[in-house]
Amino acid sequence: MTDGSWGLMSLNILKNVNLARYTSWMIGGDAEHFCLPLNVEQLKQALEYAKTNSLPITILGGGSNVLISDKGVKGLTICLRRFSEIKHEIKDGTIYIDCLAGTAKSELLKVFLKNQLAPALFLAGLPGDVGGGVVMNAGVAEMFEPREFMELVDSIEVMSFDGEIKSIQKKDLEVKYRHTNGWQPHIVIRAKISWPAEPNTEILAKVREANKIRLSKQPLDMPSCGSVFKNPEGHKVAQLIDQCGLKGFKIGSAQVSLKHANFIVNLNKATAADTWNLILHVQKIVKEKTNVDIVTEVIRLGDWS
Ligand SMILES: Cc1cc2nc3c(=O)[nH]c(=O)nc-3n(C[C@H](O)[C@H](O)[C@H](O)COP(=O)(O)OP(=O)(O)OC[C@H]3O[C@@H](n4cnc5c(N)ncnc54)[C@H](O)[C@@H]3O)c2cc1C
Repeated sequence: MTDGSWGLMSLNILKNVNLARYTSWMIGGDAEHFCLPLNVEQLKQALEYAKTNSLPITILGGGSNVLISDKGVKGLTICLRRFSEIKHEIKDGTIYIDCLAGTAKSELLKVFLKNQLAPALFLAGLPGDVGGGVVMNAGVAEMFEPREFMELVDSIEVMSFDGEIKSIQKKDLEVKYRHTNGWQPHIVIRAKISWPAEPNTEILAKVREANKIRLSKQPLDMPSCGSVFKNPEGHKVAQLIDQCGLKGFKIGSAQVSLKHANFIVNLNKATAADTWNLILHVQKIVKEKTNVDIVTEVIRLGDWS
């Protein structure tokens, strides 16, 4: 349903939109209010709508690292997956890329691949958007260069909930394992990226090989959010979960993948409650059997009361 007064403007605000289709897990209830801004102007309109109606704001990128509650999300969910634009230039031996936060990582991959540059290998198989890559500091286990998303980034632009835009240099951000701090409480709207423009003619073959390996190790044919838990210091969490005999363990339609123990797959209409209960169960068993605490990488959004 389109809200009449706001429908007059170019941004449509919808009501009661099911969010499962906006997540890679295909799980979750409805957003009370929902929009897909295309550009900075529309994002400002969304923020104004939230302010006028006193609505809390939730940001969704590519939805590949979130568990959305069955009860849904109160307030306004701003999904940035269409907030996308990417430009690049090569100058003095460096490639400079400027992209809006909703640009898919696969679009960034295409730019690096076209120019035969090493980050293409890192980005191969990394789902989600550039903004999610910044916030989560997405990374890979392989010894690629780069291994973490923030190694690519020089600066970001953020928008406050009042619509003010400011730039933040990487040195002023705190970059951690699977998490970046220092941009909050804003919305990441743009990333400026650079990398030495040193072409490697073998990149395409390496990307194909990496994709083959991922396909053989990860359940990419089933809805998931990738790795559910972070690797605890000194351990590989998938090994710990496997060691505890949890592969294949199910609650409802949520199952610890038979292929990769750190993936939970949605077999068929799993609920967020099933999935969360399975996460809690895995944490409990791993603690009991190995005495290691494991924490989630996946972020819960919405109403979990
Ligand atoms: C099959 C599969 C494989 C995966 N493999 C990997 C992997 O190898 N390595 C890895 O690190 N991750 C992996 N992931 C997880 C996920 O793809 C990454 O964490 C990704 O960077 C998340 O981006 P997203 O756009 O989907 O973010 P979302 O899931 O939409 O959001 C994640 C969090 O960031 C916030 N957020 C998103 N965009 C913004 C923004 N612009 N401003 C402010 N906040 C924002 C959201 O509110 C949420 O809290 C995998 C996922 C899947 C499904």
